[in-house]
Amino acid sequence: MDKIRAYLSNLGRKMQSGMVRMMMGRRGPDELTLALLWLGIILTFLSGFTGWGIFMLLGYAAEIWMVFRVFSRNIPARAKENTWYVTKWNTVKRETKAFFLRIKLRKQYKYFRCPGCKSRMRLSRGRGEVEMTCPKCHTVFKQKA
Ligand SMILES: [Zn+2]
Repeated sequence: MDKIRAYLSNLGRKMQSGMVRMMMGRRGPDELTLALLWLGIILTFLSGFTGWGIFMLLGYAAEIWMVFRVFSRNIPARAKENTWYVTKWNTVKRETKAFFLRIKLRKQYKYFRCPGCKSRMRLSRGRGEVEMTCPKCHTVFKQKA
C-alpha cells in the first residue's frame, strides 16, 4: 500500500514538473484566451440552436486559435494580440455604456456630434439656439436644443 502511495505521489510530482516544463517559454492563458474560449462555446451553442454548420466551423477555429495561442512560444506576438483585444474590448464596453446613458438621459439632453471632428456632445434641452465651441477642435457652430 505504501509502495502504491509512493508511486502515485512520485507520478504526481513528475506530471507536475512535466507540466511546468511544458509551459516554460510559453505565455499561457490571458484575456484573449478566455474570450476565445467563450466565443467557441457560444458559436457551438449557436450551431446546435440553428443547425448551421458555419457556426460549428467558426467555433472550432476559435478553439484552435485559443490552444495555439496558449502553447505558442512567440510571446511578443501573443502579447501584442492580447493588447489589441483588450483595447478593443474596453472601447466596446465604454461605447455600450455611453449608448445606454444617452438613451436614459435623452429627455434631459440633446445629443449631437461636432460638425468639425464628429466627437459627441450634448446640450440641456430647452435652451434654444446656442453658439458652441468644440473643446476638441475649437469649431464654432450653432446648435438648437
Ligand atoms: Zn470638434
